[in-house]
Amino acid sequence: MKRIYNFSAGPSMLPPSVVARIQADLPSWRSTGISVMEMSHRGAVFGEIAEKTRADFRALINAPDHYHILFLAGGARAQFAAIPLNLTATKNKVTYFNTGAWSKAAIAEAERYVSVEIVASSEASSFTTLPPPDQWRIDPDAAYVHYTANETIDGVEFQDTPDVGAIPLVSDMSSNILSRSIELERFGLIYAGAQKNLGIAGLGVVIVRDDLLGRARAETPAVLNYTSQAQQGSMVNTPPVFAWYVLGLVLEWVKEQGGVVEIEKRNIAKARKLYDAIDASALYSNPVEKSVRSRMNVPFRLPEALQERFLTEAQAAGLVNLEGHRSVGGLRASIYNAMPEEGVDALIAFMQDFEKRRG
Ligand code: PMP
Repeated sequence: MKRIYNFSAGPSMLPPSVVARIQADLPSWRSTGISVMEMSHRGAVFGEIAEKTRADFRALINAPDHYHILFLAGGARAQFAAIPLNLTATKNKVTYFNTGAWSKAAIAEAERYVSVEIVASSEASSFTTLPPPDQWRIDPDAAYVHYTANETIDGVEFQDTPDVGAIPLVSDMSSNILSRSIELERFGLIYAGAQKNLGIAGLGVVIVRDDLLGRARAETPAVLNYTSQAQQGSMVNTPPVFAWYVLGLVLEWVKEQGGVVEIEKRNIAKARKLYDAIDASALYSNPVEKSVRSRMNVPFRLPEALQERFLTEAQAAGLVNLEGHRSVGGLRASIYNAMPEEGVDALIAFMQDFEKRRG
């Protein structure tokens, strides 16, 4: 079979060795005679998978003991609701950075429950920049400050953790978790859907600091209640066991690659190459200010009339899922951890060849 490079924003490509492992494990996990899909989440066998996954995650993200790691159904959007519900028993005001399509979606969901204030917004630039710190309005009375670390649709990424003082910092890292080193202790809560850098859809990861538990509003649904989920090992309800198992395989793969430090080096190299090729071309362009460009999602444009042909020919060359998000159009290459450098090289070579042939 010809090698295909999948640039989808999510669900996105898995490391091929992980897919091979899943295939080998599928009919029978170890010597049990049953697959992971068929086993009780409360049994000893899944218990081992669950604990190893939690321990590997803790090690890879350097989470001290006073952080809980939860694996919850519902992806990132479930957390858009769970976060305001869990953190506002005593404070009714929350604050959000508005830096792109996913920030807006998180804000809209929070507004159903609490009053949201905007710390700063880059909407005036059509989300091609990030607001500079001197424009941030940090409110010390807020329950938390939320920001989207990487805007998957707009291709904008915070390059550093924002300094917000003593207020709990909450971050949506759905599209850049484990892609770069972070200092976990600067965060109150981090969350991410699994289907980009962590495996397959169906699971969300929440890492929450001890002192933020016990702040849930009375109406918080039991399955979204962080305190109950922390007490019950993320098994208040039946968790998506297969997605949890795949997450475990992806974490093993990250460790084999040399951990987040090594992965980050590769991500820097991959993104630099692709942006350099776009900037050097007369055909393609990327609208995002250079200092805040995403390492994970690279949106680019070419003249509208050429777009269909580009996508058709790219697909024929084995470069798939390069359409931009339906809300913004254009093209987008998502180059998460699992995308090898050869995939980026193949895309660049195709783009350069297409440009030459068009001229
Ligand atoms: N936040 C970000 C940054 C995302 O990229 C996405 C999905 N693309 C979501 C939230 C929503 O994730 P889910 O579909 O898992 O709810």
